[in-house]
Amino acid sequence: MNKTIDSLRDEFANELRSARSTTDLEHIKVKYLGKKGPLQNLMKSLRDVAPEHRPEVGKLINILKEEIESALEGMQTQLISIEEHDQLQKEIIDITLPGRKKFAGRKHIITQVLDQMIDILVEMGFSVQYGPDIDSDYYNFEALNFPPDHPARDMQDTFYLSSDMLLRTQTSNIQARIMEAQRPPIRMICPGKVYRNETITARSHVFFHQVEAMYIDIGVTFTDLLATMDQFVAKFFGREIETRYRPSYFPFVEPGMEVDISCLNCHRSGCNLCKHTGWLEIAGAGMIHPEVLKFGNIDSELYTGFAWGMGVERLILLKHGVNDIRLFTENDTRFLAQFPEV
Ligand SMILES: [Zn+2]
Repeated sequence: MNKTIDSLRDEFANELRSARSTTDLEHIKVKYLGKKGPLQNLMKSLRDVAPEHRPEVGKLINILKEEIESALEGMQTQLISIEEHDQLQKEIIDITLPGRKKFAGRKHIITQVLDQMIDILVEMGFSVQYGPDIDSDYYNFEALNFPPDHPARDMQDTFYLSSDMLLRTQTSNIQARIMEAQRPPIRMICPGKVYRNETITARSHVFFHQVEAMYIDIGVTFTDLLATMDQFVAKFFGREIETRYRPSYFPFVEPGMEVDISCLNCHRSGCNLCKHTGWLEIAGAGMIHPEVLKFGNIDSELYTGFAWGMGVERLILLKHGVNDIRLFTENDTRFLAQFPEV
């Protein structure tokens, strides 16, 4: 019996040494002092001890119980003070650490470039006009000299909402509205989103942004178009850049053309960006078709005008060397953070 008491004492001492937290200690306490614990078992087995030895053995058991209780108590005091110390360490504020920078939002690169384009053109005397994204076939096509069933409609894959309503394919839908509401001189730009029913790839998307410009007055000539475009390009890219005009067809202008700038990357010696042509296409432009003026109730004998449209994403691709249009709408902050607001 004495042997059992001694080995229980050793066993307890070992276990107590391994306790690392007050939770461990609580387990040990329940294990040794609980109703089904080894001490209780010892007490029960006193019955089997010869009566003359019982008082002595009982005393030894009680001594062990007191030892266990006081050892647990001592250990508890130690562990509590260690845990409190650890907690305090965790809560220490190191006032020598630099402050954490708060994440500050910024304008999306498309908004930044739109703002920049608007600022330049407003400074050049254009007013800013906005129109609906959902519009009728009349304002998106017919008033811009796209008669029904005209093959030129196939140039723009359209999202139709009904037989007459659609998501605008160009911000020119504002032109006819402005012509109906104002008398020349009209000098305005219309920035906004446009929609095309195209497969999403690195080069094309179902929506993108455009800025259109329109100037109507007595005696507006092709030279005015060239001068305005050249001035815009120089201001936007921050340097003198050569422009080139290639004849092209758009129903709402006559003559129509595509505007190229000399390659920003290779200065016309040929590179991958310009597909070794030395030129980058940036806009469609032309003199407003007399039919379009007529739709706007403007006397096409008296007034002339020019118009041009630019894709905003296209300009960002060229200016910043972005090679995938999908990046603009994926909201990956690693991409967007590369364009800090100036
Ligand atoms: Zn090039």
